[in-house]
Amino acid sequence: MKKQLLAFTLILILLPLAACADFTPEHAIAYMDSHFTCGCERGGSGVMIGRRGLVTAAHNLYCEKHARPLKYCNFHFGAKSANSCWYKYSGKFAYKVYSTFSNGYDARDDIAAVVFDSPVGKETGWFGWRVGTDSYINEEYCNVLSYDFRRHMQNEFSIEYVLNDRQIYWSGWSSGTEGGPVYFWQEGMDYPEVIAVYTSHDSSGNGYGRRLTNNVINDMRADGAFN
Ligand SMILES: [Zn+2]
Repeated sequence: MKKQLLAFTLILILLPLAACADFTPEHAIAYMDSHFTCGCERGGSGVMIGRRGLVTAAHNLYCEKHARPLKYCNFHFGAKSANSCWYKYSGKFAYKVYSTFSNGYDARDDIAAVVFDSPVGKETGWFGWRVGTDSYINEEYCNVLSYDFRRHMQNEFSIEYVLNDRQIYWSGWSSGTEGGPVYFWQEGMDYPEVIAVYTSHDSSGNGYGRRLTNNVINDMRADGAFN
């Protein structure tokens, strides 16, 4: 009986370590092929931040030109090319967008949460998240990861700055698709922490991100993204 208890305790202790060793950031990031009811299509990126929850840019779920919603979208996690990925999800999901672009594009609200019907995170793993304070964001370096249109991962590493209570910016932008994570992952941290999603860039070469705020996290929690 004691031996069984010891074995059970060891499993409990070792399980999180095993999960940690298996974590591959690219597997938790999806290339999204979004098809809208207006007929437009676009490629995007999104990142898992819970067992069922993914965050992305709102304009991957609503057409920013015509304010029309998705017709369908496939999620290619850990994509390597147009035909190869770690895990593909084409099932049902719910989503909440912070802008439908009915008054034109607005980067400040260009964020959305997807909640999958299945626990996709069991296959892909997921990032941690942080509601970053202004001083924290202004002092830290971060990575931006997103797929390009060949579905190859693009990485940008930079110091980032607060633009306002909803947005950050940084010098240098990834040429990848929008919606991928802006995250910290430093020595001593077991998992990367998403602080924003990549939304856009300007002609001077600055990248912009929509911050992960308490509102977004609370909505995702209420919608079951962390269940
Ligand atoms: Zn459209």
